[in-house]
Amino acid sequence: MVGKKSQPSKKAQKKIGKREQSVASEGQTPHPWTEFVEAQSKADGDDKANASLEVGATPGLGPDEMELDEDETPASAAKKEHAQSFSREQEIEKLRTSGSMTQNPAEISRIRNISKVEFGRFVLFPWYFSPYPEVFSQEDCIYICEFCLSYYGDLKSFTRHRMKCTLQHPPGNEIYRDDFVSFYEIDGRRQRTWCRNLCLLSKMFLDHKTLYYDVDPFLFYVMTTRDDRGSHLIGYFSKEKESADGYNVACILTLPQFQRKGYGRILIQFSYELSKIEGKLGSPEKPLSDLGLLSYRQYWSELILDLLLGFSEREEKCTIETISTRLSMTTQDVEHTLQALKMQVYHKGEHKIVIPDKLLQQREKSKTKAKRVIDPERIQWKPPVFTAASRTWGW
Ligand SMILES: [Zn+2]
Repeated sequence: MVGKKSQPSKKAQKKIGKREQSVASEGQTPHPWTEFVEAQSKADGDDKANASLEVGATPGLGPDEMELDEDETPASAAKKEHAQSFSREQEIEKLRTSGSMTQNPAEISRIRNISKVEFGRFVLFPWYFSPYPEVFSQEDCIYICEFCLSYYGDLKSFTRHRMKCTLQHPPGNEIYRDDFVSFYEIDGRRQRTWCRNLCLLSKMFLDHKTLYYDVDPFLFYVMTTRDDRGSHLIGYFSKEKESADGYNVACILTLPQFQRKGYGRILIQFSYELSKIEGKLGSPEKPLSDLGLLSYRQYWSELILDLLLGFSEREEKCTIETISTRLSMTTQDVEHTLQALKMQVYHKGEHKIVIPDKLLQQREKSKTKAKRVIDPERIQWKPPVFTAASRTWGW
């Protein structure tokens, strides 16, 4: 069955509604972030007036960005939705049009072709077109094995597959493990089918991704959560084995059933931890998806702010280059974030970085909420070395 509703070109605020459908059987839990956002609103009185003012004043740090990575109540989402659309759309447009990855308009305009997916213990409702074989678009539901990512159009053959399938984790090396998540590194060339299947799965939730078949030049970093049945896919990012432009992430996605729980932030942190080990500055490939952009913006803002606070407490000087080196972020990303937060000023013939009081207060409040982070000490990883031939061809 072909979906009638999900057009990628629709306004971002509309997409939010569609997305919530995909959170399937997971209950909505109110999250501390909501308190943070609400506290912001309360401080200035009327919700709506304040929200519009906020968006106008600091295009990069609307309450929207706080919400997307984390849980929140549907009510508060609805309240904020109207005022957010302005900065959100602007930002998305900016990133979309400045990107290196060419979009294929024909692909984007294609209508969602899969209406329902059974994946592990979740039922997912795709948002976008994904190039599964034509015949699958006629099924009411497709079944995807959550471990090998093979897809089936009928329950009978899927059940037969599950009896035989022995995979219980992604087919690569586990390079990170804490009490909460694991990361696996998977070579697109060595695990071509698995990686193609991952791309097909993720395309259902990404509006702009163009990579499906040529997975060989990429490594995939897959985050899972463990239980007695195995390691369950939460999200991943892909990374070019050698990026001429210095990108440390090509595509990044948290599966919809795990969104708004802070996992996007963990994926982003992990990508920068790898860049630190490599001794490189990293940046995600543009264009980012709208959700991706918002998660990055939030991540960058918080890290830069914390770093600057440290410098100001010690009364040390801090430059854009210092921030860039310390956080393994490119100077462009640092500058872009500082501009969005209105932290760059020109004063008495000098460019200065300032921390507005409002940001300080926001950060203090958000700090009281516990966040899960990657412990860099636990990463068991050396930058892989590829010869020109092994990057794409045989060993
Ligand atoms: Zn399987």
